[in-house]
Amino acid sequence: MASDNENCISRLRAIPVKNESRVFAIDSVSKRQWSFGAWHTEATTYGAKLRRLGLKRGDRVCVISENAPEVGLLYFGALYAGVSVVPMHPTTSPDELAFVLSQAKVKGIVFAAECAPLVKSEVVQKTRIPVTTFEELAAVAPAEGFTALENASPDDELLVVFTSGTTSQPKGVVHRVSDLVDNARSFGSSIGLGPENRFVNLLAMTYLGGYYNLLLLPYVNEGSTVLGPVFSAGAISTFWQTVITHEVNTLWLVPSIMSMLLRLDRGTVGEEYARKSIRFSLCGTAPLPLDLRERFEKRYGIGLYENYALSETLFLSVNTPKDGPARADTGRIMPGIDIRVVDRQGHVVKDEVDGEIQIKTASLMRGYLAADGGFNLPLEDGYFPTGDIGHVKAGRLAITGRKKDLIIRGGVNISPASIEEVIAAVPGVQEVAVVGVPHALMGEEIVAVIATAANETFDAVRLRVAEACSKKLSRLKQPSTIAELLEFPKTTSGKTQKAKIRAWLMHGTKPADSADPMASGLTTPAPAAKPSAAVLSPAPSSVVTDISEAMSIKYNNRVYDLKEKGVDVTVLSLGEAFFDIPLFKFDDLPFPALYHYSHSRGTPGLRKRLAEYFLSEYGVEFDPAKEIIITAGSKIAIYMALLAAVEPGDEVLIHEPAWVSYFEQVKLVHAKPVGIPYDQELFDFEKFITPRTKVLVINNPNNPRGRVYSLAELTHLHQLAVKHNLFILADEAYSDFLLEADRFVSMANLDRAKSHTIVVNSISKNFGISGWRLGYLISNPAFVNQVLKINQHIVTCPATILEFYIEKHFSEIIATTTPQMRKVVELRRRVANEMARIGLTTLDGDSTFYFFVSLGKTKLTSEQFCDRLLDESNVCVVPGIGYGASCDKFVRVSVGSEPEERIYKGLAQMKRLIDETSA
Ligand code: PMP
Repeated sequence: MASDNENCISRLRAIPVKNESRVFAIDSVSKRQWSFGAWHTEATTYGAKLRRLGLKRGDRVCVISENAPEVGLLYFGALYAGVSVVPMHPTTSPDELAFVLSQAKVKGIVFAAECAPLVKSEVVQKTRIPVTTFEELAAVAPAEGFTALENASPDDELLVVFTSGTTSQPKGVVHRVSDLVDNARSFGSSIGLGPENRFVNLLAMTYLGGYYNLLLLPYVNEGSTVLGPVFSAGAISTFWQTVITHEVNTLWLVPSIMSMLLRLDRGTVGEEYARKSIRFSLCGTAPLPLDLRERFEKRYGIGLYENYALSETLFLSVNTPKDGPARADTGRIMPGIDIRVVDRQGHVVKDEVDGEIQIKTASLMRGYLAADGGFNLPLEDGYFPTGDIGHVKAGRLAITGRKKDLIIRGGVNISPASIEEVIAAVPGVQEVAVVGVPHALMGEEIVAVIATAANETFDAVRLRVAEACSKKLSRLKQPSTIAELLEFPKTTSGKTQKAKIRAWLMHGTKPADSADPMASGLTTPAPAAKPSAAVLSPAPSSVVTDISEAMSIKYNNRVYDLKEKGVDVTVLSLGEAFFDIPLFKFDDLPFPALYHYSHSRGTPGLRKRLAEYFLSEYGVEFDPAKEIIITAGSKIAIYMALLAAVEPGDEVLIHEPAWVSYFEQVKLVHAKPVGIPYDQELFDFEKFITPRTKVLVINNPNNPRGRVYSLAELTHLHQLAVKHNLFILADEAYSDFLLEADRFVSMANLDRAKSHTIVVNSISKNFGISGWRLGYLISNPAFVNQVLKINQHIVTCPATILEFYIEKHFSEIIATTTPQMRKVVELRRRVANEMARIGLTTLDGDSTFYFFVSLGKTKLTSEQFCDRLLDESNVCVVPGIGYGASCDKFVRVSVGSEPEERIYKGLAQMKRLIDETSA
């Protein structure tokens, strides 16, 4: 029970009064700031809104969201209203969420709109718990007469955190207000946290790291915190910028963030700032490997203060400034915390002897949630058993392993860490793990597994290790086997997986002539060839290093990154139109066939459907048994067609502006792409043909221009193909995006034998289903057979279940998308008018949902233009240079995924930038 019950509530009341106008929180995305007073006021409103939603004192509310300031405000609002919070991460599965909701008897759910699919899933809906989005909550009128912390008690439940643990179902750890607030205060004074400490929240706010360590802890200690998205590898470039802009001076890192920074932070800005302005960094949540700590401290010059905490007990120990950061333990045990160390029989052991750590603390959880609504608190003599192994030495706590790592040899408890310490100090040892393996007489036997340094032989190092062990360790602790292991299995946080090493030792292959590793004496169970000392990996093929990223995808990835940070981007760069398509039934698809490979030409049923469709819509006849292959997207169909058609060094003509992947795919098949500039007359194409020309690629209707090739043009191209014996690769992915269907002529209409024609199409565009990766290729049987061989060797077949689905719902999908395709082409027409009105010019074209817009007299390259447009106006379009060397004064604008008004605003921004950058 909290010793100073009164203080925790009165402290919470006093903090915003005392610090009224000092900054408490900053949102790194919107740059909004809250003083303690403003935070308190807004959180009080959240409390009053929760009341209005019908939540009473003692109720539980589930919160599901990525990091956002509203999440923190809601947490505080709940605390003020006496409502307990059950935070859940958006990546939780529907089943897991449903389990948690019923286990915790949750009365309401507040969630971020993006989590709607999870919240609206069938199992969650079945719980019939009222749900509210954050946007809806913003519109809720606060209950009148609400007062923050009215009738609050330190014993009020604050939150339930679900830990995944090792059992199949997560366990709910229940904490009271006093648990966290008092523990935060005690931890803060141990390390000297105060108003001058500014943190940055890099951890998920739905776990204790983001809720407690980086929100409540700074608050209780009157510091401040910068709220932002969870740290990710992709955010490294902006990480230091955020830290510097908001003058963060205290970090809270976890080992995985530290190793990501060491690996991916290529600049020096962070190092310079860290040395100058970071006071220290706390580090917790997972064991910190020594070498990681050393490398990190060396590079950034930041002192790392390790600590030890469990969800169930909160903080227990921390390195204090008095001791300095670099100690090989988890620091001084905090005041008021009673730690005992026991052996397997539960007897308390002496200082410095390893055993299981058991805890008494006022901040111990109320218990794990039990199925009957009660609490379950496992205690041994009033102490909470942690399952961790370690010892206490002069008031400091060292953790040396998990309970399951403890070795019992001849009935004596032996901590592997004490042996590992001796071995790690032997020259030539790069890494060591000591484990116990079963032994008939001794119960367990000790095996030391080592990796040797690159310039050493195992035999030499083994002798040194044996000598050091016999000198420095009691007989009982000396390993009976020393084995070599080249790579240690690790968890993502860098912790060696000893259980895997133990399993290898017990069950792994042994060379026939090796001694029994379980016998006494120093032997090795599995010597293996040592890798060479070189660290450079082999150079990748220059064919691949020389190709560029797909320009459209590159820019769209930037959009995804910005959107993740909450930036409102006008997306005129996406290569697809968003249609409303219902989700049809999956459960009447052929079962169990849908689990297995299909025919590598694709399911016969879908091939037949496509044949019927081609006949009825385009008047093209093909044999579904021989003249088509269904592929995993049309991209790979084009790639396989090129692979099957060209010899290395052949030339492939590509009519610009051309879809971004043709050029690079041609290079990937060791052929030479030859762009035909956009301003060349189609009837003059013959001049580009050489003896090495093998294929001419056209895209009809065309992305990025919206051009439909006329019957006369197609006829001319077919005649050229026959005359020079070329293939025409006709990519017809947008064949249904026209207002007058008869204007579309398939290349196969002109070449009934398909002797010179390869038609490629896709469900990505006409069916509006791009993510399912289904495309197809139609050509003469002999050519299709060649493509089939490639498909058999590299993909086998597309996802069978999706083929069955499309086959089954073919007509329904087409009936749904056809009117929507019309709409988007009509929208394109209106957008064309608007472009003309504001003075934007385009290459002519009137189908698809794309425009190829001229940049007029701008001095910028198309990439510079797109970068500036995105940076300055949050409008994303794709640089023309991706569509051919002749196209650097254009950009591609797609109107398939944004509402009309937003498109117009985006166009106005483009026009502004063109004008501003023109001579
Ligand atoms: N061809 C063109 C002209 C395209 O625009 C695209 C996609 N943007 C593709 C092929 C690839 O489509 P799929 O999704 O079928 O691979």
